[in-house]
Amino acid sequence: MGLGSFFKRNKDNKKEEIVESHIDINIDECDGCEKCVIACSNNVLMLTDEICSVRDPQVCRSCRVCVAICPNDCITVN
Ligand code: SF4
Ligand code: SF4
Repeated sequence: MGLGSFFKRNKDNKKEEIVESHIDINIDECDGCEKCVIACSNNVLMLTDEICSVRDPQVCRSCRVCVAICPNDCITVN
């Protein structure tokens, strides 16, 4: 998933740019512990077949809580 950007309209109908977070998950190291899924307050992550996956990168705020909590260092957020 690449770093991208998109535009949305705010309440005054002005264009504002939202930068999409870049989240990489090393699925070879993920053991499906779900700690990152539970820790992410924006519900960005999910488990798919007991492996972490990105549900909605557009709502990621790059807080890196998931990076800090992963016991296997699987997650990179740029
Ligand atoms: S960086 Fe923060 S908002 Fe983004 S997925 Fe990780 S915990 Fe969620
Ligand atoms: S915290 Fe790490 S090991 Fe656990 S589910 Fe998330 S990415 Fe996988």
